[in-house]
Amino acid sequence: MNSRDLLEKQIIDDANNGDTTVLAELLERLSDEEIFNALSDENQEKVNENRFICEKCGEFFPREEMVFDNDYDCDLCKGCNSAIQHNSFMTGGK
Ligand SMILES: [Zn+2]
Repeated sequence: MNSRDLLEKQIIDDANNGDTTVLAELLERLSDEEIFNALSDENQEKVNENRFICEKCGEFFPREEMVFDNDYDCDLCKGCNSAIQHNSFMTGGK
């Protein structure tokens, strides 16, 4: 058994005992894309239901990071929304 196999077994054993410390640490290191790709189709759908694209920066955000009710009539992430509040670079765009 190599160390990866041992770790896999250890994580499963730990999880069965209610301990997910090591697993959580490993998941922390993965990118959002890697996590998404590892999800089942069903779970990917759940994630997609809760992902919104910002029309300014083109990134995906969860609902709580979005501002739909703004003066610019487009879906913005909080970061872009507050940036626009401070300078009007959106003027004349899109
Ligand atoms: Zn944005």
